[in-house]
Amino acid sequence: MNQVAQLTNTLVDNFGRQVTYVRLSVTDRCDFRCVYCMSESMTFLPKESILSLEEIGRIAQVFSELGVEKIRLTGGEPLVRRDVMQVIDYIGGLGLKDFAMTTNGSQLPRYAKDLKTAGLHRLNISLDSLDAKKFKRITRTGNLQQVLDGIDAAIQAGFKGIKLNAVIMKGRNEDEVLDLVEFARSKKIDISFIEEMPLGVVSDHERGETYCSSDEVRKIITSRYALTANKAKTAGPSRYYSMPDSSINLGFISPHSHNFCGDCNRVRVTVEGRLLLCLGNEHSIDLRPYLRNHPQNNQPLKQAIIDSMAIKPERHHFTNDGDVQVVRMMNMTGG
Ligand code: SAM
Ligand code: SF4
Repeated sequence: MNQVAQLTNTLVDNFGRQVTYVRLSVTDRCDFRCVYCMSESMTFLPKESILSLEEIGRIAQVFSELGVEKIRLTGGEPLVRRDVMQVIDYIGGLGLKDFAMTTNGSQLPRYAKDLKTAGLHRLNISLDSLDAKKFKRITRTGNLQQVLDGIDAAIQAGFKGIKLNAVIMKGRNEDEVLDLVEFARSKKIDISFIEEMPLGVVSDHERGETYCSSDEVRKIITSRYALTANKAKTAGPSRYYSMPDSSINLGFISPHSHNFCGDCNRVRVTVEGRLLLCLGNEHSIDLRPYLRNHPQNNQPLKQAIIDSMAIKPERHHFTNDGDVQVVRMMNMTGG
């Protein structure tokens, strides 16, 4: 067992990295079928194999007792899970420094206010296109106007932070980079551009063909705006920049072109209760037996999580040659 972790009751891996950030997937289901994330026809997990909302709450609580300061709920689309507000209320009461959610925005017109009241601090909202037709082409089932209304509802609810996420693909939405920047500037919210990652086999396209690097996206933006790199370092694959005449941050999330593993501070839990130690590797442990064999006692769960630190890999091995590196789809991993 990892001795540092055992002594301090914090999560420290064999490379001295402390885990302070957990992404919890609350569902693998979604009302969209984004081409880079899912196939057109999907088979989702049967109800009996997913964690209950109560179990997700227990996992969140144990992580917070182990020094985790930040929890992000994701999926699938977190807001399509029935009664999801129950677990959001619960986690909102844990007193985390940072409680966030990644969402496609479709349900925000209905939920934005309640999320804020429940104690959610920040929202990342995915938005790949501002053109209704292209939006439909990328999300297959999404409705652009619903998401735009969701963004406005979130702004109105007054979250501490709202950020847009756009996956940029050649031949799909690469021509909208500047429009998306203008949109973010007009709404005064941050925006990050994400490189497509080789997670799962998708039917729509060859990933190698659509891959658009952060450097290419940045070049498009600097044709209009001078960008200054922000000094504050984030422990993750994001780099942030600012523009001279706007308060918003522009982020670039580049799992390919920048190796961010050295300061990795995060783990993920799938909705089946699998604790994934690295986005780009299969190293994981199943938390379900610890939850289900000890319904009233979190100690075994806590010890299993501490012990898991011993198998957190040093780095991922993504490439962009079109090879599938990890067979899990993003909706299974929890983006
Ligand atoms: N449904 C929510 C959403 O779309 O925001 C949350 C889950 S989604 C899996 C989380 C993020 O992962 C989204 O911003 C999405 O664009 C991104 N994503 C999904 N598949 C991806 C892939 N293969 N490469 C890069 N980003 C991906
Ligand atoms: Fe759904 Fe998000 Fe995946 Fe799109 S990226 S299909 S919205 S889970």
